[in-house]
This record gives sequence, C-alpha cells and structure tokens, in this order.
Amino acid sequence: MPIRQLSETMINQIAAGEVIERPASVVKELVENALDAGASRVEVVTAGGGLNLIRVTDDGSGIPEQELSLAIARHCTSKLVEDINDIRSLGFRGEALPSIGSVSRLSIRSRTALGDSAAEIGIEGGRVLPVRPAAANRGTTVEVRDLFFATPARLKFMKGERAESSATSDVVKRIAIAFPAVRFTLAGSDRSTLELPATDDSPEGSLRRVAQVMGAEFPDNSIAIDAMREGVHLTGHVSIPSFSRANALQQYAYVNGRPVRDKLIAGAIRGAFADVLPRDRHAVTVLFLSLDPAIVDVNVHPAKADVRFRDPGLVRGLIVGAIRQAMADAGIRSATTGAA
Ligand code: ADP
Ligand code: MG
Repeated sequence: MPIRQLSETMINQIAAGEVIERPASVVKELVENALDAGASRVEVVTAGGGLNLIRVTDDGSGIPEQELSLAIARHCTSKLVEDINDIRSLGFRGEALPSIGSVSRLSIRSRTALGDSAAEIGIEGGRVLPVRPAAANRGTTVEVRDLFFATPARLKFMKGERAESSATSDVVKRIAIAFPAVRFTLAGSDRSTLELPATDDSPEGSLRRVAQVMGAEFPDNSIAIDAMREGVHLTGHVSIPSFSRANALQQYAYVNGRPVRDKLIAGAIRGAFADVLPRDRHAVTVLFLSLDPAIVDVNVHPAKADVRFRDPGLVRGLIVGAIRQAMADAGIRSATTGAA
C-alpha cells in the first residue's frame, strides 16, 4: 500500500481515543472551555450516564458566528499560546471539540455580547453541518448526543449509567473547587445531582466551596496549609487524622488552578501522613500549588491531567514539610512516636 494522509475524521477519531475516554472526559473538556470563556455560571445536564446526552451551558464570552466553524476544526484555538512554556488557560490544544465531534453528534449554539443574534453549528461523526441562526442568550451551549456512536468499540467499554454519572460528578466537583466564584449545577437522570452556589475567590470563599463539595464537617476537621518555598506557593486544607478515609479519592490537587492527578503529590501526601495514619487510611486533602508556568510542564498528556515539575524534590519537600508543620502547629501528635 502506498503511504497516504489519513482523513481529517480519522485523525480526529484517533485523537478522541486519547482525550475522550468516557462521558466524564467530555464534561471535563466542555466545562474547561466554559471557564476559559470567563463564565460565572456553568450548567451541566446529562442523560443515560452522558452517553445519550451531555449539555453544558455557560454565560461566558460566546463564539462569534464567523468563528463557529473554526471552533470545531482541528488545532484551532483562541487561547493562542505564543509560548508553550506559558500556558495559563485550561485549554490550549484546539483538539477537544473536533475530537468529540468525530465520535458523537455535537452542536454548539452561541452568542457573544456584541452579536445581536445567536448561531448554531453541528458536527456528526466528523461531518460538519452548515451554520444556521438560532435563539439564545449570551454565552454558549454545547450539546453532545450519542457519544461514541461512530466508534462502537469504545462504546462497548462503558461501565453503565451509574458509574459514568459518578465519574462525571467527580469531574465537576474537582474543577468546581478551583473556581469558587463560579456557580455549577449538574443534573443527571439519577442521584448524581449537584448544586454549588457561587462563593468568592477569597480564602474563606474557597473553603466554603470545598465544604460544599466535601461536606459541611470538613472545615472543622481540617487544618489550613499555607507555605512558600523558592517561589512555589502551596495553600489548601488537609483533614485531621481522625477524619481519614478508606481510599484516596478525596484528595484533590491543583497546579495553577488546573486539576491534576499526580503521583508525586499523592506520594508527598502519603509521606506527610505516614506517622499519623495507618497504611490503609487516607487523608482528605485539597492542595493548590501556584508557581511560574515555566517550571511546570502541563503538556504531558492530551487529557492535561498530568504534570511534570522541573524540580520534583522541591515540590515534594514543600508539601511534606508544610503538612507536617501545620499538624505540629495544631498540636497533632504522631500515633507511632508520640512526638509532636
Ligand atoms: P481549546 O480549548 O484547546 O482552545 P477546544 O477544541 O476545546 O480547544 O475549543 C476550540 C475553541 O472554541 C476555543 O479555543 C474557543 O475559542 C472556542 N470555544 C469552545 N468552547 C467555548 C465556550 N464554551 N465559550 C466560548 N468559546 C468556546
Ligand atoms: Mg478546550
């Protein structure tokens, strides 16, 4: 066979294979887009665990009608990163919408502050539908129906409505903690409903958002963390040892406002609690790292949840040191040594 270029749809479906693992991945990408657009309200509706329908509505900047076709074209982004070492938005790859549109029936209805009318575009299994006029308030509604209808092999791997809904709810909670001034709602066909009224960006507002997600008991059972080392700032809250959990699912970590799942951070948390918690118990933690974007690489994986720090030892030392110090200051004693 001669060498030939893959079709645009194939290229997007291959990308979707990496970025769009399940309905929760779609929700993550769409909510990130809403936040990048400066939304103050983000509304998520799902049906059938997100496989039948995912609808995300925001009151952000909107997309100008003449740019709708670019929004669903590959490698097209308005978050133009002149410099890959200075990423400040959640998105930057220009990949999510074309990927989702290659494996589902996607529509975007949007209206900007300047536009006097809204417009809508669709893409179904990679086939682009013409732009047409629509009715909408300022902001954007993205609707994804029949996720993975175009890739039946992926569809077979879905775990059922409950599991997908709970993964979606976790995604929304995870992002919401980093954006306390934004109101989030999630409505599904089952019990995974969320309503997180806006608080504000102050430390108190942030803790109130954490309490909305973690439970009202969390603030009284946690200690504040605030430490700085070599320009890296760590803030947040960790639970006291008596408020531990049987798994580490309630450990949320953020790097410059981006939710991350990072082995280094997880390991540092384990290390910090090693003396006060048995091996099978896990602290509840919300930790925010803020540092110069140039010393952390977020372009590690298409889903953007992995990061690499230029100086992992510094980050680990900061987390372990700050948590231990905060526990010592709070008079929490080590169970094994009895020492403060
Ligand atoms: P990226 O987020 O990496 O730029 P996406 O494929 O997720 O790539 O989105 C492509 C572009 O579509 C964005 O750069 C943005 O300009 C526009 N866009 C997508 N969603 C929204 C939204 N909810 N509000 C405003 N603009 C949006
Ligand atoms: Mg995006």
